[in-house]
Amino acid sequence: MVRQPDHLRQCANAHIFRTVEDIRPSGPLHLDVDPRQREHSPTRRYTPPERILSIEATQTVRIAVIGAGPGGICTAVRLRQAGIDDFVILEQADGIGGTWRRNRYLGLACDIASHFYSFSFAIKPDWTRPFAGQAEILAYLEDVVTQFDLGRHIHLGICVDAARWNHDAARWQLTASDGSSLTANAVVASPGMFGELRYPDNEGFDRFAGTSFHTGTWPNDHSLSDQRVAVIGSAASAVQILPEVAKVARRVHLFQRSPNWVLPKEDVPFTIEQIEQFRRSPASVTALRAELFDRYAKDPPFCNAASNAVAEQFAAACLAVVEDDDVRDRLTPTTPWGCHRPLFSNDYYATFNQPHVELVTDSIERITERGVMTADGAEREVDTIICATGYETTKFASVIDFVGRNGQHLEDAWSEGAQAYVGITTSGFPNLFMVYGPNTNAGSIIYMIESQVDYIVRLLQHMERDDVAWVDVRPEVMAAYNEQLQVDIEQVDVWQGGCSTYYRVPSGRIVTQWPHSMARYREVTDIPQPLDDYETAVRSNNEPQTRDRKRRLT
Ligand SMILES: Cc1cc2nc3c(=O)[nH]c(=O)nc-3n(C[C@H](O)[C@H](O)[C@H](O)COP(=O)(O)OP(=O)(O)OC[C@H]3O[C@@H](n4cnc5c(N)ncnc54)[C@H](O)[C@@H]3O)c2cc1C
Repeated sequence: MVRQPDHLRQCANAHIFRTVEDIRPSGPLHLDVDPRQREHSPTRRYTPPERILSIEATQTVRIAVIGAGPGGICTAVRLRQAGIDDFVILEQADGIGGTWRRNRYLGLACDIASHFYSFSFAIKPDWTRPFAGQAEILAYLEDVVTQFDLGRHIHLGICVDAARWNHDAARWQLTASDGSSLTANAVVASPGMFGELRYPDNEGFDRFAGTSFHTGTWPNDHSLSDQRVAVIGSAASAVQILPEVAKVARRVHLFQRSPNWVLPKEDVPFTIEQIEQFRRSPASVTALRAELFDRYAKDPPFCNAASNAVAEQFAAACLAVVEDDDVRDRLTPTTPWGCHRPLFSNDYYATFNQPHVELVTDSIERITERGVMTADGAEREVDTIICATGYETTKFASVIDFVGRNGQHLEDAWSEGAQAYVGITTSGFPNLFMVYGPNTNAGSIIYMIESQVDYIVRLLQHMERDDVAWVDVRPEVMAAYNEQLQVDIEQVDVWQGGCSTYYRVPSGRIVTQWPHSMARYREVTDIPQPLDDYETAVRSNNEPQTRDRKRRLT
């Protein structure tokens, strides 16, 4: 196993940063920001407070939001817009932005068009390119925090370890890794899907004399210039990193276990004139967002066999750029397009034409003191090993030890795999609302997050209106929803056949993916009477109430 630096182990939930140095780039690590971005960047960037607040400062709140990534930020904006001000955002890192703060590896950029990977309530006309890089997205999120004056709600450096439901008081008791605690009527858990890093299971990393790290803990001060580098992995992070690493390294070996289809992206930077046009004409941005919605959100992504085949043919045509027949063959997947997470890069395949870049497909036997040894006994000596091996994606809110009604732990409730009602609530855990929860992964996650947050805020408003102390989704409602969901998932041909380990848990269930269109998810979450699906209790007596169910499932 690759060791995590000590400072990343401080929080019980691991892989967590606590110091400002871990978060802020200290050098020119990211070169992918178009120089014009500086020109266009507003100067309203959110500056984290000097002092990290303890949550003892705010003992009881109406709502505790966990996580200040896009999900937590969206929740905060919508709560404020709904007139709800009594909430805190607890964030373990020393800055906001979630995924886009934590990950800062070379080449990191969005795979979803930026005009669609941005909030409907915070339109940014001046994205510098169609698919923005990490730094530009982080700057955008910081602008949103400033624009909506969210700073006063945000408590940085607070890692929530556990939360216990007190049924009599109808409250959650949260405890943080520094021992401080807080009570809240409701919790919105938005810890993200990609907080836990997955490392290669090869032995020997302890003996390796060089430097090794995961893409999710990219060091600020480690130069790859003129180095011999091993990249382990060939999925989403690897296709973004490889072309950038190859630009500076002396030798690069990419260790591939299984090949993936890689599609190009239309990512020519916007011209100054185009950006000016977007700025002058909000209608043109709205029109572009509408066009992107039509293109990406209206139809289910993988359910059309004909368009899957076209995508695969297109990726196969892109592979033709690889000059060496043997390398091209080994880069050609045997699984259909869509079976694994779709990948996008304009220069991944072509990078293998460079003489100092090697594709290695022999399996890794072990890590040695000097480098990487494969099963055929060959040892490649390297100075740096980059683990582009992805994330543990199936835990969701159970990265925090939630203890619900009857003392049940969320991890135990989900022993067969995470499940929720519309991805947001899970039975036995009253007043716990999840953002980017089970089976909500699809397309633009920001679009999906907005659907979830609107649902949660509507539910909270209905609770207020009806004087409801707690809501707990009815078990039969959640069960029926998930039964139908799994039936729908089985209809997606390309996810069958055992190639989608990224999506599945050991029980065989797919717990991450939403099988329909993004537009369909919005319809499903746009429930006018959300309380009907819940067991509830009024504040005055905390007695469970029976409501008539009037509604449907997917
Ligand atoms: C490398 C990478 C590339 C991606 N590219 C795309 C893309 O192109 N398009 C797309 O739609 N999506 C992409 N995603 C998915 C991306 O994670 C989501 O789009 C989005 O960031 C989800 O927002 P979130 O707030 O739910 O989670 P996150 O962004 O992960 O934020 C979660 C926050 O919660 C905090 N947190 C976690 N646990 C605790 C705790 N116990 N206590 C306190 N705070 C806690 C974390 O520190 C973090 O700040 C990508 C993800 C990764 C990792």
